[in-house]
Amino acid sequence: MSAATSPSRIVDAVVVGAGFAGLYMLYRLRELGMTTRVFEAGDGVGGTWYWNRYPGARCDVESMQYSYSFSPELQQEWEWTERYPQQEEILRYINHVADRFDLRRDIQLETRVTAATWDEGQQRWNVTTDRGDQLSARYLISAAGCLSAGRVPEIEGLESFQGQWYHTGNWPHQPVDFSGQRVGIIGTGSSGIQAIPQIAKQARQVTVFQRTPNFSIPAWNRPLSPEQQKEWKARYPQLREQARNTRSGILYDYSQRGTFEVDEPERQREYERRWERGGANYTHAFNDIFFDRAANDQAAEFVRSKIRSIVKDPAVAAKLAPTDHAIGTKRICVDTDYYTTFNLPHVSLVDLKASPIEAIVPGGIRTADATHEFDSIVFATGYDAVTGSLDRIAIRGRDGLALKQKWADGPRTYLGIMTAGFPNLFFITGPGSPSVLTNVVVAIEQHVDWIARCLQSMQQRHIEVAEARTDAEDQWVDHVNEVADKTLFPTTASWYTGANVPGKRRVFLPYVGGLGNYTAICEQVVADGYRGMRLDPVPAVEGAAPRTGGNVSAPIDAT
Ligand code: NAP
Repeated sequence: MSAATSPSRIVDAVVVGAGFAGLYMLYRLRELGMTTRVFEAGDGVGGTWYWNRYPGARCDVESMQYSYSFSPELQQEWEWTERYPQQEEILRYINHVADRFDLRRDIQLETRVTAATWDEGQQRWNVTTDRGDQLSARYLISAAGCLSAGRVPEIEGLESFQGQWYHTGNWPHQPVDFSGQRVGIIGTGSSGIQAIPQIAKQARQVTVFQRTPNFSIPAWNRPLSPEQQKEWKARYPQLREQARNTRSGILYDYSQRGTFEVDEPERQREYERRWERGGANYTHAFNDIFFDRAANDQAAEFVRSKIRSIVKDPAVAAKLAPTDHAIGTKRICVDTDYYTTFNLPHVSLVDLKASPIEAIVPGGIRTADATHEFDSIVFATGYDAVTGSLDRIAIRGRDGLALKQKWADGPRTYLGIMTAGFPNLFFITGPGSPSVLTNVVVAIEQHVDWIARCLQSMQQRHIEVAEARTDAEDQWVDHVNEVADKTLFPTTASWYTGANVPGKRRVFLPYVGGLGNYTAICEQVVADGYRGMRLDPVPAVEGAAPRTGGNVSAPIDAT
């Protein structure tokens, strides 16, 4: 239910997006007594979990960890049903949160923010939407998500296709019935790897078009027993605190041992133990997997050997076994029955490196050496990640500079939270923050808490304009690159580097230094009086919009 549209409103904050980040930001802004308008493009809350309704959609972070920690009551009362939560269950949880904390009254659904322009005179953001709303906001906060701008590749002839086509990230709200159909699926990232086994259960014929094989570890998903939940809940405060201090915000079994500190039989036992346990925990079997190619090769070869042992046709197994990138440097996939699906007689694999797609034709997909006939085509082709959702909004900062223009050579931020020249614009899980390399709910809570604390401090000190300093931003960008260069991540063309979007500047987008370290840096920035930021009082401008939150008082230069 969307609240009524009200043109030319004056609010303290506009928040873009009502997923995990937008909802929690709204909650915290309310605590600060700030008037807030949240705009959400979907007709419901939930962000990525609202849009991703494809068969098999499931989070690859375990349920007991992939949830908010800000409310002890919430985390005690909510019951998860499975080890890894299904999309439908996560969406139910997010809706419960929206109701429980009475958040909906400040959320306007089915509305996209289209433009935001910094008004130098008023020291506020003028925000417009595709519904004709016009707002004046002191703060603009992006909770637009890192994986929300879906990408259907530009393949010639798509408009001529006579069947149905779908993108995993914008799936119909009614279940799609593939029974009896011939289905072509393009893409073998996390989404494709989850969807393929489910679609194969229904369809008469499934053809998977793979450009690059991915490493996938079994989820071994199972129901969560009441006892397991009780155990977690009894220790939630400690466990959450521990998780916040890890690299990924997830309680994995992080090994302290190097790959070559143990002998070959012990190495294999460790990989096997992790494989049997399931999930992305596998990539932490030894502490050098992300840093040392020889160590990485050992972990990768174990997975390749598993693929060869599961997939009966050696030629298919060879195509499915990745050899072109270090394991973990593309987001590791977590699956249910992915590799066994290729043993089914009605499932086949097309290697696009050997036979690229030339065109989509009325009857299906034409590759270099065959035409494949389909009733439906599924694009599991991913996202314009991290920056794509911001690029869709015409954001203009000081002197009319467009954010897109400022970031033409790659995004530049301070802490992933702010960017110089765009005062009072905050990003939740922005480029240059750990975001997509973490349990994003933990990263979101850290960001929202930091931003809320910053705004509170500004309120208390009667400061109304915050902006990243260019020198601090430059140093942060250097640091992000320096840390990435110590790992194997930049050796792989992936969406982490923008390589999946033709023409997108290749920059390593997230901060790979670890969430725990990153949080410590953010805390030190606060302890140093918001080092790296300019905090200015609002100048007394004639005709300036009235303040709508906090108190007007004497200016203090906090830098
Ligand atoms: P993705 O990882 O970017 O995978 C897209 C796939 O489509 C890749 O295999 C890619 O091949 C292929 N592709 C793209 N353009 C193509 C083209 N023109 N022709 C042929 N193939 C093409 O996207 P995703 O699977 O949607 O996953 C994105 C991220 O969302 C994940 O990495 C993860 O962070 C998150 N996610 C998480 C879950 C979960 O929690 N379980 C589930 C889904 C998604 P190349 O590799 O060759 O580019």
